[in-house]
Amino acid sequence: MFVSENLNVTSEGHLTIGGADTVELVKEYGTPLYVMDEQMIRKSLRRFHDSMNKYYNGQGEVHYASKAFSCMEMCRIVASEGDGLDAVSIGELYTALKAGFPMEKVGFHGNNKTDEELRFAVQNKVGHIIVDNISELHRLEKIAEDLGVRPNIMFRIKPGIDAHTHDFVKTGQIDSKFGFALETGEAFEAVKEAVSCKNVNLYGLHCHIGSQIFDIAPFEEAAKVMLGFIAKIRNELGYEIEGLNLGGGFGIMYTDKDDPSPFETYLERVSQVVKSECENLGIKLPRMFIEPGRSIAAPAGITLYTVGARKEIPDIRTYISVDGGMADSPRYILYGSEYTAIVANKADQEKTEKVTIAGKCCESGDLIGENMPLQHAESGDIIAVCATGAYNYSMSSNYNRLQKPAVVFVNEGRSRIAVKRETLDDIIRNDI
Ligand SMILES: *Cc1c(COP(=O)(O)O)cnc(C)c1O
Repeated sequence: MFVSENLNVTSEGHLTIGGADTVELVKEYGTPLYVMDEQMIRKSLRRFHDSMNKYYNGQGEVHYASKAFSCMEMCRIVASEGDGLDAVSIGELYTALKAGFPMEKVGFHGNNKTDEELRFAVQNKVGHIIVDNISELHRLEKIAEDLGVRPNIMFRIKPGIDAHTHDFVKTGQIDSKFGFALETGEAFEAVKEAVSCKNVNLYGLHCHIGSQIFDIAPFEEAAKVMLGFIAKIRNELGYEIEGLNLGGGFGIMYTDKDDPSPFETYLERVSQVVKSECENLGIKLPRMFIEPGRSIAAPAGITLYTVGARKEIPDIRTYISVDGGMADSPRYILYGSEYTAIVANKADQEKTEKVTIAGKCCESGDLIGENMPLQHAESGDIIAVCATGAYNYSMSSNYNRLQKPAVVFVNEGRSRIAVKRETLDDIIRNDI
């Protein structure tokens, strides 16, 4: 019934997350409400970094991909676990900086960084800038020269791997806006240039093949391709690449149709491939980086809504409308994503219906999902949508001038606000 181990039911039939009663949370904070379970976030981070220690001799780092879910409290939690961060904009960098995140543990990504962003990253001494294209390299060189520093860079490489996932979240194939192509020689030319460049230090290579990937094989393939390239650079240019960043993309369970591998298995298998390839190729074991985003944030979060209208269209479908929608939960309208929902105040009851849960925005496509098994829901009931911790709050908008919901963190039964609910004045804050 539950897609996440941190969900439970009280004797009154109330859904709990991280030990906190969702019905009580709604009384205190209102709806729509994002709820994140701190212990679940910490546990997932530890599963990744403990596996890195176990299977890769501790020669690696876990960098949480903050685009999945970013706010200052999240940065503080990641920092307190000793993990790093991946940021893709000046806004994500700024959030980390203001949260006191150690910037040397930040990797700065993006396929079209502005000069302002590059300068901000360099001035604030981020650990690595992951350079996406040749014009960015040139702009960064100039900025580094101006500032009299020599930043560490990695190159974003398209390893030419077809990950089996949604087209919009595939990123490793040649027809992608991200990174340098291997097949065409573009990547090698860029490496040649960077190796002889005095204003940047080419530290590593990076690839990220996509998101919500269940197979481990494409990750193993990508690692092999990248190590082959590292060997070519060593053999032909005599230059040693020190870091290998294999990105994120590990799939999680949204509904019982999903069957992800445990994170540990991923790291065990990929570490084995990296070690044996390095031995075959006669190259030094690189420092390994991974960048899980969804797998850290998604299972830790739920979204709570209040049911408004119930509309039964005979022989067609039943719509259950909630007080949020695509503005706070855009993944259905973007990707047709599926979720598991529970009536949070009737969580002990059987799911006797299949309904379409609709949002309140002026789009027919504004749904949380179709044909969702659910307990009988009526006006005033609370609906919990599970595994919404990633790519919901971070992708939320003010469409229809809706106020963005609050984010509450729960920790062993207690709750605290991490992001305040927007007020009506927030809606007109920048209007003149
Ligand atoms: C999006 C992204 C990630 C995280 O992907 P998940 O699927 O959320 O794990 C990691 N690295 C890069 C470069 C990304 O763009």
